This record gives sequence, structure tokens and C-alpha cells, in this order.
Amino acid sequence: MKIAVVSGYGSLEPEMQIQLQNSLKWFQSSFLVEKSKTPVEIQDIYQRIPEYQKFSSILVQTPIHRQNMKFQDLKTLLEIADFTVFVVAQDPKKCQRDPDLLAEALPIVLVPDERPPLAMMSICLQNNPRHQNPSLDSRFFYDLFRHEILHGLGYGLIIDKSSITHKPSEKYIWNHSNGLGQPENRHFLDFDTFALEFTKKHFSCEKMKGVEADGERKNHLNEYIFGNELMTTHLEATGNIFSWISVGIIERTFNGPNQWYHINRTFISTEADQYSYGKKFGCDFLQKSCHDFIKITEKRSPTLNIAPFCSKNHNHMCYRIPSSEKLYKMSDKDCEMRRVIGAGIDKGGEQRRCPMIKHFPAKFEFFSCPPPPGG
Ligand SMILES: [Zn+2]
Repeated sequence: MKIAVVSGYGSLEPEMQIQLQNSLKWFQSSFLVEKSKTPVEIQDIYQRIPEYQKFSSILVQTPIHRQNMKFQDLKTLLEIADFTVFVVAQDPKKCQRDPDLLAEALPIVLVPDERPPLAMMSICLQNNPRHQNPSLDSRFFYDLFRHEILHGLGYGLIIDKSSITHKPSEKYIWNHSNGLGQPENRHFLDFDTFALEFTKKHFSCEKMKGVEADGERKNHLNEYIFGNELMTTHLEATGNIFSWISVGIIERTFNGPNQWYHINRTFISTEADQYSYGKKFGCDFLQKSCHDFIKITEKRSPTLNIAPFCSKNHNHMCYRIPSSEKLYKMSDKDCEMRRVIGAGIDKGGEQRRCPMIKHFPAKFEFFSCPPPPGG
């Protein structure tokens, strides 16, 4: 799938622009689409993205190059590209109100039941996380643009018109560490039918009802459950993975009779197979609080890798950074209570906290600690 990104606002910071290009290369290798039957006209752009009426020249980024163009020459580009993203101005006040907001993207459907040929993307340049964290890996921007363009294609933002994949929300009780229960709601993503089969296997939970969303807007995977998946609400600075769960969601994201997106499984498997967050955690993880999950798991399967969660009773488990000799014990001094994001944040209810490993490395090996020397 050939994606072009058009901007009337010039180039991004050099490193961001390079990562934007890298993300377009990734889409070119991983997504297959049919050519749109109805070409996009300049008039469609004027109508749907009115701020582009004022530009006479634009910057175009494709997977292979970057060039300035007269706006009127856009016609050819719109014919060649399978999908075109327009960078639009972001309201600085909105960025200021929400310092976590980095970018937003919205699909534009022109013909009902056909895949969107266009998207709008806005970027909060002032919230660039590099300003706070100069050592942040530039791969973060690669993940950011993949995440946003996936939204632009419709991930979490297209509504299932047939309602076939829609699932009602559920009420449940989140038990805190002090034993007090808090009523919560669970929401499920639309279009999760393909993803659900893989998700059940990943978490080892056959009775799983749906793929849990982050809040009632249902446009992201739940942060607490899916951790470092690319399509959770918050991106991890240490890397994010486009997993088979997101493959399933985006492939099922279509209205009308025909599937819009096909994923190149050979290309994507190297990345998707790396996804291990919550692997084999079971139904207790998906349906109860982290405190219940840890208690139950300690009894039933004491050797299960529950990282990034931890427990005072996990003294016999160790982890190690690959290629390093140093062992870390999952003991209570390495275990801290941390707020879990994603779960119920839209309600502004009581904050939920879970015991999690301090300074947990992105890549690690987890195993039973060796017996103490001489003993
Ligand atoms: Zn998002």
C-alpha cells in the first residue's frame, strides 16, 4: 500500500520526518489494498479539508522521497497513492491542556462502505517528548506515525454499521489491595472477531468475550491488558509492537461486503511474534484486578512469568537482561505500587494501582533463581 503524506506546513524536525518516511515504508511492505475505484479529486480535498484551500505549494513525503509540489499537481499524486494523509493544524490550546497528546488522525470516507482514501493528521509539536527526554530513541516517532496512520486507515475510528461485531459493555468489580471493591465498566472494540481467536490463545482464556478497549470511545486497545502493543492509548518509550491482535482488528475493519486491508503475514511475523505482554496470564488477568490475579496465580502457577507485575512472594523468581550476567530478584524492594493507566480513566474514578517491577527493562529473561551458593 502506497501512502503519501502531504503538508502545507513544511517539514517536521529532521528526525521526525525520517521516521515518518520509515513508517510509510513499513505500510508499503505490510499492507495490501485494492486500488480505489473512485479517484479522489482536488474538489474532495477542498471540501473535506478546507484549510488546504489556502496553500499554493505543499510538501509531499512518500516511502521513497520528499518533494515540494504545486498544489495543482496534487491530482497525479492522488491517482498514484493508495492513501493520502494531510497534515492539518492543531489547536495549540488543545495541546497545552493535554501534554500527553502528541498527534491525532481521522479517516475520511468519501464513498459509503469503501475504505477511506484520505486522512487528516494533526501533530502537537510543542508536546514533542524529546524536549523532556533528550535521549528518547527516534524509533518512538516511527511508532507514533504507525499508530496515527493506523487510526487514519480506520483502526478504532470506523464504526461497524452492521453492528455484527458490536458487543455490549460489562460491569465488574475491581478489588483493591486493601480488599475494597470498586465498580468498573469494561468496553470491547468493534471489529474484534478476527482478533479474538488469537487473543484467546495469547492470554490462555477460551471464554474471553471480546478484545477490551480503553474506555467507552473504543478507539484503542486497553493499556492495562495489552501493555506495549502499538495500538494501546500510550506509546512506550522502550518500543511498541504491532501484534497479531492489531492485524486481526485492522483486517476486520471494513463496512460493506469486501475486506479493505490485507496484511502481509510473512513481513509482519518478525515483529508480531515478539509480542509477549500478558502471555498465558489467563482469564483471571482479563476479568479481575491485578491483586486478585497475582494472588490466584501465586497459588495455581507459581512459576508463571507475571512481569511487569510482581509480588513480595516472588522471591524465587529472577530476571536478567539478555547478554548481561547480572541477576535481578523479583523481591519486594524491586516491587513498587504504580498507577495503571487505561483502566477506567474516562470515568475519573478512584485510581487503580498495581505492584510492578521498578526499572523493568524492555527485553528480559525470566526464570527461577539459581539456588544460593553452597546451599
Ligand atoms: Zn491513538
